[in-house]
Amino acid sequence: MGIDLGTANTLVYVSGKGIVLQEPSVVAIDQDLKVPIAVGEKAKKMLGRTPGNVIAVRPLRDGVIADFDIAERMLKDFIQRVYEGKTLFPPRIVIGIPSGVTNVERRAVMDAAQQAGGGDIYLIDEPIAAAIGAGLPVSEPTGNMIIDIGGGTTEVAVLSLQGTVLSESVRVAGDELNEAIMQYLKKVHNLVIGERTAEEIKIQIGSAYPTNNDDAVMEVRGIHLLSGLPRTVGVKSPEIRESMSEPLSVIVEAVKRTLERTPPELASDIIDRGIMLAGGGALMRGLDTLISHETGIVTHIAPDPLCCVVLGTGRVLENFKESERVFSGRSR
Ligand code: ADP
Ligand code: MG
Repeated sequence: MGIDLGTANTLVYVSGKGIVLQEPSVVAIDQDLKVPIAVGEKAKKMLGRTPGNVIAVRPLRDGVIADFDIAERMLKDFIQRVYEGKTLFPPRIVIGIPSGVTNVERRAVMDAAQQAGGGDIYLIDEPIAAAIGAGLPVSEPTGNMIIDIGGGTTEVAVLSLQGTVLSESVRVAGDELNEAIMQYLKKVHNLVIGERTAEEIKIQIGSAYPTNNDDAVMEVRGIHLLSGLPRTVGVKSPEIRESMSEPLSVIVEAVKRTLERTPPELASDIIDRGIMLAGGGALMRGLDTLISHETGIVTHIAPDPLCCVVLGTGRVLENFKESERVFSGRSR
């Protein structure tokens, strides 16, 4: 079983079957009874819509396990949904984790997976898993750059010979873009909106670079700050792009810094081969163009950006013998 335990989405791959689960990393908890009442899609619908005694939480919010107990329950729920009753032996599990996490956090992820019913647990750095899933030739002595933009973190990494040569992780990604849109609507349109609405705006009309969709207007519903009543406001694509410019530039700067630190031979490979974008943030309109423009290097979007990491863990599982070198940690 391969798992991408993401800050926004968790995906599970079962070898021989493919991706069998893709759910938001959200848990709704009854605070009186201290039990989860929903996990995944159902819980995400509850974000910002729960009565007093119920909270909907994202246990990995900032890129690492922010709430260990809840993360463990979520992982358990997902693993059991996939495996319940179908196997006699605890499954071997390969989990993708951000390359910047501490040893304590690595241990925590492995413990959670083991508590959740896993057998031998192997950890793989997410950028390597993403690169394998995106189809990059990571085993060759060639430099590849992958940028994985998730919900909580953006990881920029230069890989060669199945290893991470250098990497940088910034805690600015999809969530920060949503936050920037919320702030903007409040400041300029006096409109208070929730996180889910902000994400819808980002996906529908958001862009990182001028596009041929710039005239698009979206009707946004929220609460008017002054009257306190519901109101609908029309927002345009260019103003949303402008509102996201700060977090977008943080991402671009991380890419530039990583390029500056890259040894010359590898840099020359990257110029030849281009940069690869993965993660849900790769779907942001015009982001490839923005990065190409700012770095002067051709930038590609992976075929299925949201699934790169889990597909990478699957490939590693299915070629287990040849892949032993890629693991950055294992139980036992
Ligand atoms: P993680 O690995 O942290 O779980 P994902 O790779 O699943 O994150 O990406 C989730 C992020 O991608 C979210 O912030 C989501 O809003 C964003 N996202 C998903 N689809 C799009 C889209 N079409 N345009 C822009 N952002 C998107
Ligand atoms: Mg991810």
